[in-house]
Amino acid sequence: MTNLPEHLLHGYRNFMQGRYSAESGRYTSLAHEGQHPETMIIACCDSRSAPETIFDCGPGELFVLRNVANLVPPYEPDGVFRSTSAALEFAVQSLRVKNIVVMGHGRCGGIKAALNNGGPPLSPGDFIGRWMSLIGPAAETVSTSTLMTATERQTALERISIRYSLANLRSFPCVSILEGKGKLTLYGAWFDISTGELWVMNKETGDFERPELD
Ligand SMILES: [Zn+2]
Repeated sequence: MTNLPEHLLHGYRNFMQGRYSAESGRYTSLAHEGQHPETMIIACCDSRSAPETIFDCGPGELFVLRNVANLVPPYEPDGVFRSTSAALEFAVQSLRVKNIVVMGHGRCGGIKAALNNGGPPLSPGDFIGRWMSLIGPAAETVSTSTLMTATERQTALERISIRYSLANLRSFPCVSILEGKGKLTLYGAWFDISTGELWVMNKETGDFERPELD
């Protein structure tokens, strides 16, 4: 009798015999000394876009925040429960990360929901609908463009939402101040699940380009 699905327990056994065993010293020192990741990644909850997998990172390397469609809401110190802002505050003010990467991905269900706004909500709370309304104006503009195919609209909004989240990151005083001092750098990236291609946002143009790999 177990209290977890069998495939999770099987994976955990593999982890303990494999990665944890091979990197036990690293885990031990991280436990004693605490974490000092240099990079925060804001990614989607989607099971196909795990940052640690895509960037081949080990324990202690990435401070990861995942939410539906990797959105950063604007800075609003209003006393409401804000998990994204809390994670951001900790990463920037306590961990002092040097990099923040907003990473979107292809075939994003959240973005698709924003483009197909008007259907019935998944639950009476309509949490996804309310969350995706953050990019409502952009979604409406893109969804009404009849010159684009459905696939093009999807990719366009996925990339527009990354630029939107980067702009909102800069609405947080702690982010904009540290970026201005050169102590924090913001990046945008988009991962194509079907091909494994990673596209990185050009800071000057906002376009997404393939990075040069060695
Ligand atoms: Zn997604």
